[in-house]
Amino acid sequence: MRNAYYQKQEVTIEFDCRFTVKVLECSLSEIIKAFCSFLPNLLTDFIMKVLLGYAEYVMSLKNKPFSCEICGNNHYFIWKTRHGKTTRILTIFQWVVLHQLQVQCSSCKHKFYLTRKLLGIEPMKRIPEQTRRKLGLIGSLASFRVARKIISMFGWTIDKMTLWRAVQETGKEIDFNLDPDELAHGEADGTGIPIQGIKNRGKELKVFVQHKKGGGIRVAGVDIGNYHGGWKRLFEPVIEIMKGFKTFLLVTDGDTTILDSLKGKVKVLFQRCLWHIPHQLKFTLWKDKVKRKSGDWLYLLAEIMEICAIRPLVDDLDVIKSMVKSKTERLAKLILFCKDKGYRMSAEYLENARPDLFTAISNRLNGKSTSRVERLMRTVNLRINVGKWSTSGALNATKIRLAYYYNGFDA
Ligand SMILES: [Zn+2]
Repeated sequence: MRNAYYQKQEVTIEFDCRFTVKVLECSLSEIIKAFCSFLPNLLTDFIMKVLLGYAEYVMSLKNKPFSCEICGNNHYFIWKTRHGKTTRILTIFQWVVLHQLQVQCSSCKHKFYLTRKLLGIEPMKRIPEQTRRKLGLIGSLASFRVARKIISMFGWTIDKMTLWRAVQETGKEIDFNLDPDELAHGEADGTGIPIQGIKNRGKELKVFVQHKKGGGIRVAGVDIGNYHGGWKRLFEPVIEIMKGFKTFLLVTDGDTTILDSLKGKVKVLFQRCLWHIPHQLKFTLWKDKVKRKSGDWLYLLAEIMEICAIRPLVDDLDVIKSMVKSKTERLAKLILFCKDKGYRMSAEYLENARPDLFTAISNRLNGKSTSRVERLMRTVNLRINVGKWSTSGALNATKIRLAYYYNGFDA
């Protein structure tokens, strides 16, 4: 228990350090090698001496920075031992074994260890949160092999399991949501990721990003689920904050039925991701057995590219109206063409996309209809493509990575 009335003060602790070093030659590499072999003892000694010096200082104060967890006394204690049972703690420089400092409460005779109270780390935990978060960040930014290699250059080793667990626990603590102070624009998109025991890229990672006032994006939601499913879990947490916006422009090709519950509370404007449309059309044309690069194929692709290309910075409402009208007509022609030729899948796809193609431009929310999630997905894949993941493993590593790159997370 910490004493809330304790006033922090700078304490000077001095100590001398004696060491014996044996080297064959005085090259820098030899000296660094000697230092690395020295580090565990040096660090342990350093922590112990600072800890003890500080403990002696606070024991001399009337008002202690800690209090008895039984009776609440924070004035009168006596030393039991300065060299008690050992405790192992992981620092970012490796494990240290510390002798515990023990005191006794003068009023209720309760004995307790001071070490972790003074160090500000949780009881029983061998890996303090501050170390765990740093290892979690390292393990999400680089593959475990690379992380171990880099760590080994600083003179110590860490096992893969410790790194993996640090990633899992750190990832679990990270939650995303909309920021009510940022823009009422967002994009949601999915990408296939490899999961252990599932063929190919068997699961879909779904990401919801919010556009920021100063440009750029932040992550507002992440989930991993089956293809075409799981969109509900992605949007569910953001509904409350979304209600605070008058209108929200959502660019997505995902299933947004969960947002129907917002009807009457927020006007959600849906915009199909224009970047995806030509890509999707290639896929439906393949399903319709239209030969790649044939006359029909080229005509349809070229047309859809032009329909989906929106020039930024068109600001005149009349120009916009006339542009949308012309694009809508061209699209109708394209759908008819597909129907006439019997390209059923492609006709159906374009028909479905039609109502939400020009929402952004019609509402003068220009330039927000092209995907910025693509790059984000590449950032995710750089890590996820290395190694075999379970669903939760991949999700946690992705959460840390995204929080670090887009939301200012730091360990
Ligand atoms: Zn007590």
